[in-house]
Amino acid sequence: MKVLVINCGSSSLKYQLIDSVSEEVLAKGLCERIGIDGRLTHKPTGKAEVAIEAAMPDQKAAVSLVLAHLTDAVCGVIADLSEIEAVGHRVVHGGEKFASSVILTEEVIAEIEKCNELAPLHNPANLIGINACKDLMPGVPMVGVFDTAFHQTMPKKAFLYGLPYEYYEKYAVRRYGFHGTSHSFVSKRVAEILGKDVKDLKTIVCHLGNGSSICAVDGGISVDTSMGFTPLEGLVMGTRSGDLDPAVLEYIAGKEGLDVKGVVNVLNKKSGVHGISGVSSDFRDLDTASKEGNERATAALDIFAYRVAKYVGSYAAAMNGVDVIAFTAGIGENDKGMRAKIVEYLGYLGITLDAEANDCRGKERVISTPDSKVIAMICPTNEELAICREAVALV
Ligand code: ADP
Repeated sequence: MKVLVINCGSSSLKYQLIDSVSEEVLAKGLCERIGIDGRLTHKPTGKAEVAIEAAMPDQKAAVSLVLAHLTDAVCGVIADLSEIEAVGHRVVHGGEKFASSVILTEEVIAEIEKCNELAPLHNPANLIGINACKDLMPGVPMVGVFDTAFHQTMPKKAFLYGLPYEYYEKYAVRRYGFHGTSHSFVSKRVAEILGKDVKDLKTIVCHLGNGSSICAVDGGISVDTSMGFTPLEGLVMGTRSGDLDPAVLEYIAGKEGLDVKGVVNVLNKKSGVHGISGVSSDFRDLDTASKEGNERATAALDIFAYRVAKYVGSYAAAMNGVDVIAFTAGIGENDKGMRAKIVEYLGYLGITLDAEANDCRGKERVISTPDSKVIAMICPTNEELAICREAVALV
């Protein structure tokens, strides 16, 4: 079966066409600057990449262009649109309504719309992508895969905040968690690699990318995760502050003459390692700056590693033990220096880094020594493949 995986944002759209049997990517690409001017990068496997400027006034125009390229005589990979048997859509927020992926019927779409106010920057854009695909590929089953769904198994003690209970009842304020598709994929893959049943493993997944989160997975089930009501909570990220004393909001608002929205914008976009270092949100730039003696870049890297180590410790406590610590996403898969820095904190768990094994990028590999009591490993994530599998399972 050929499955089109769509991740539609407000101004960009990522896609992959995957053969679900071989799990090979037939083509992938990215539409950027939707609603501004429009740029498409289309990468068909085994053929030359195409990069064009083309008008994309809205998401429907972008999807239309993608479909035209997938079926193009030169850069296409299928003869006809009828070869696409399912479309898997990434949806950021499913609230408490969706604990698993679903076929996108009109009723389901109406329910997702109700979650829009929980993710105002993402969900409406996801829905526009869904509706565009429905219009352009009538009759093709569409599946919604939620970032939040995997975490719906968290117990109340993990998802409730120390706020008046009525805010949960009236406004649904609670921890939802994100990156669920990745945490689910990686925790299952870790068990496969180690030849264990996922039900027998306590795993801490460290998804360290531009946005970063950690998840405690006990027996295949998410029991806690570091992102919260929004992706702002938890780790210090590329540009997000992560955990913070909420009283800082009022104080900074007063000092800088900002309203709450203005401060939250700073916490989301101008903070994290970027804000601390004043250099960049990209760990390659931070590494270079740190090696050149930039003290703020060094501090940013130290703070990032320290926060990750603190979360790992708290989740080992929450699960009363841990068998595997898995590193994934841009930093987790590629940054051997950062992995080493984090693992250095974990000696008390009986983990020793195998420096030689750690000297790699993007490989499925154990990076702790054989005598370590807990396994540390790299496990690359693949959210598109996870979405493809969900779509196939439901269709
Ligand atoms: P997201 O999906 O959240 O945008 P990714 O998971 O793609 O992010 O991670 C992107 C980040 O990964 C980059 O900002 C960079 O900090 C880091 N990264 C990617 N490659 C490397 C590398 N070779 N060394 C160090 N860091 C890297």
